[in-house]
Amino acid sequence: MNEENNSIHNFDFNLICDYFSLLKRQGPGSSETTIKALSFIDNLTTESKIADIGCGTGSQTMILAQHTRANIVGVDLFPGFINQLIQNAEKLGLQHRIKGVVESMDNLSFKNESLDLIWSEGAIYNIGFSSGLKLWHHLLKKGGYIAITDACWFSDKRPIEIENYWLDDYPGIDTVGNKVKQMESAGYSMVAVFDLPESCWTENYYHPQKEAQKVFLQRNKRNKFVQSFVVNQQQEAEMYEKYKSYYGYTFFIGKKS
Ligand code: SAH
Repeated sequence: MNEENNSIHNFDFNLICDYFSLLKRQGPGSSETTIKALSFIDNLTTESKIADIGCGTGSQTMILAQHTRANIVGVDLFPGFINQLIQNAEKLGLQHRIKGVVESMDNLSFKNESLDLIWSEGAIYNIGFSSGLKLWHHLLKKGGYIAITDACWFSDKRPIEIENYWLDDYPGIDTVGNKVKQMESAGYSMVAVFDLPESCWTENYYHPQKEAQKVFLQRNKRNKFVQSFVVNQQQEAEMYEKYKSYYGYTFFIGKKS
């Protein structure tokens, strides 16, 4: 990439991050589903270490800290999100157990077999479900757990419009059954699998974006990139409304075998 493209890319990336900083969550999910996934994981103590990969501003990181006694490292590529994660931890008096690291999920600096639990909500798609699971396996202690949400097809057949939409965006989307097989072949035994309810997408993700879009457009008047980005976000929400019976997020909880 030449210098000019590189700076345009960084500019867009910073704007996208500004937009998502206006939101409590940067992906579909809920406190309830984080707590439910955590309920399948035992043996976490004050000595345990959790990595929350692609943590964003840390809405699930705070829940993990409030419902365990472990130490947690939130990892994200975007420094602005990590700053917000640290501020959020301070507000809740959790700064002693939550640390933030700016790093790419495909080049993590955790030591081999140093983690008791790897958490990642709505983020593994950035490197692909199967590749991420294989790449992170050596970081977990033997018997350590992994809990991931990722996009899944809820039926074997679906309308071509939504199929193409997803294949453009994230070709790694697959059926829950196929993802379970991918997880097993990456070296994990399955502990639990459950689909996220619709409210994780609507009430917790798309609805709050309506207000954020107004603020974002107001802040960046006449910015063509911002205008088309907002239209894309609106189209994504419309697609969900139209085709939500065909896809969603699934929580996969596994154990290093
Ligand atoms: N877990 C949060 C955020 C999900 S959005 C939530 O559910 O609210 C996906 C996150 O992955 C974003 O915060 C984005 O900055 C981060 N991300 C994207 N590519 C990344 C990479 N290569 N390494 C680390 N984080 C990345």
